Amino acid sequence: MTVRPIRTFDDPVLRVVAAPVKDFDRELRLLVKALTATMRAGSGRAGLAAPQIGEPVRVVVYSYDGKSGHLVNPRLELSERKITADEACLSAPSVWWPLERSYLVTARGRDMFGKPVTVRALGVLARVLQHEIDHLDGVLFSDHLEAAERERFLAEALPAS
Ligand SMILES: [Zn+2]
Repeated sequence: MTVRPIRTFDDPVLRVVAAPVKDFDRELRLLVKALTATMRAGSGRAGLAAPQIGEPVRVVVYSYDGKSGHLVNPRLELSERKITADEACLSAPSVWWPLERSYLVTARGRDMFGKPVTVRALGVLARVLQHEIDHLDGVLFSDHLEAAERERFLAEALPAS
C-alpha cells in the first residue's frame, strides 16, 4: 500500500478550501486507502486529512483507541463544553501545543461508497475529528492560537533553515 509524503505547514495546499467529493468511485477508494496507510505508517498518528498528502478534497481518516474509519464530505456539530489539551499536527511533527476544543462532537458524512455515516466522539477522538476537518477548510490548528502564541508556535514548527 502506498504511503504518501506528508505536506508541511508552509505548503500552500494546506490553505486551500478542499472540494467536496462528487464521485464515489475507485479513485476515492484508492485515496482513502492511501490516507489510511500513511496514517498507520507512523506511531501515534491519530488522523490525517487528504490535503496533507496533497489532495485538496474533503476526505479524512482517523484512528484512536480502537475506533478508526474515514469520512467523506464531513460536517461537525460541536458541544458547548470545551477542554484544553496538547495537540499536534503531522504537518508540523513533534511540536505539541495546548489548544481549547469542544469535548464532544457529532460528525456526519459519507463513507467511500456514498453511504451516510455518523460518528459521535468525545475527548481525544473529538479533538482529532475537529483538527482533521479543519484541514478541509484550509485551517491549521495554529490559526486558533492568539497572535503572539501563534508566532511562538510557528518559530518551533518552521525553524529557519
Ligand atoms: Zn493536522
